[in-house]
Amino acid sequence: MTTTRFETEVRLPALSRRSYTITIQPGLLRKLPEHLHERVRAGRVFIVTDSNVRRLYGRHLHHILLLHDIQSVLIDFPAGEASKNAGVAGLIYTALLEAGVRRDSMIVALGGGVVGDLAGFVAATVLRGIPFVQIPTTLLAQVDSSVGGKVGIDHPPGKNLVGAFHQPLGVYIDPAVLATLPGPEFRNGLAEIVKIAVALDLPFFKILEQKLGTLDRKDVMALSTIVARAVGLKSAVVGADEREAGLRKSLNLGHTIGHALEAGSEYSLSHGSAVSIGMAVEAEFSVRLGLSKPADARRIISVLTSCRLPVRVPRGINARTFYAAMAADKKSAAGEPRFVLPAGVGRCAIGVRVPSALIAEVTGIRL
Ligand code: ADP
Ligand code: ZN
Repeated sequence: MTTTRFETEVRLPALSRRSYTITIQPGLLRKLPEHLHERVRAGRVFIVTDSNVRRLYGRHLHHILLLHDIQSVLIDFPAGEASKNAGVAGLIYTALLEAGVRRDSMIVALGGGVVGDLAGFVAATVLRGIPFVQIPTTLLAQVDSSVGGKVGIDHPPGKNLVGAFHQPLGVYIDPAVLATLPGPEFRNGLAEIVKIAVALDLPFFKILEQKLGTLDRKDVMALSTIVARAVGLKSAVVGADEREAGLRKSLNLGHTIGHALEAGSEYSLSHGSAVSIGMAVEAEFSVRLGLSKPADARRIISVLTSCRLPVRVPRGINARTFYAAMAADKKSAAGEPRFVLPAGVGRCAIGVRVPSALIAEVTGIRL
């Protein structure tokens, strides 16, 4: 089998020793020992994963590492966002410390965004920080959460409220693992891919217009190309603006409305669905504010629909929670939300104020 390999360098100029490579290659999971060998010197390897991914890929990875004389300890926790908290982080600290974790040990975060955030957070904090690598296994994690070094846990009253910036030593993406991903999880990732194209890259958006509607999850070559392009764009932005002072904000497209919808639905809407609806709503804001043409908004909505992602605000959103979440958004200025809106397709405007009457009119959510 011919395998194409894509590599993207994430350059963090502030501290160049923290730059790292993201490797994207079908079948990469089997080749990991080659990649990890040079990184694992004296220390032990700890594979941190969730209960599903342990069964699908974790035990296998543990085994192939062993075949290459790399000893590892497999630690897992129950799959799902509900595990992304200080209690489960505490259990992982205990497991690591009991197994003799040292400063030269390495954590391998194997799983979706929950594993990456939680295992990355543990890696950032145990023994004041130890090295880690990411092996993202959901499309969402491959194109979004594994790029950028944001790690963290949820804590009342919200998501990702406790965390750190901790850059991995490397990110290893095997698009072949997406074959086992449930459809809704796959679509969550598509929403972030569309977001990246709408915010940053018209030619990429045109490719998505042609390909996404018929994309097969088992077509590893097509997937690899799309994932590589999305990752390349995101890493360029993160490299230019690690701490989200400016450009990185463009990746919040669809998210101001999206996060508020997630909260207002009591998290019954998935992140990808909420971001998809958020993008459709924000595209309409953009048209109303004269930043885009109606045809631009129609194109965005049509790509989302071709992925079978929702584009309309569902009934039953709690208006109070929706508006409170928007005001509390980390990106808001003095309690007033600031939006990233598409400016046509492939470009965006950052820090836009949207009148509350327009928000109420377009979303249909009224206090
Ligand atoms: P996300 O990546 O969307 O932030 P999670 O980390 O919770 O979210 O992953 C979503 C679900 O998909 C979890 O139940 C996880 O166990 C499961 N999962 C992760 N990777 C795979 C895979 N490659 N195949 C099947 N299921 C997977
Ligand atoms: Zn997102």
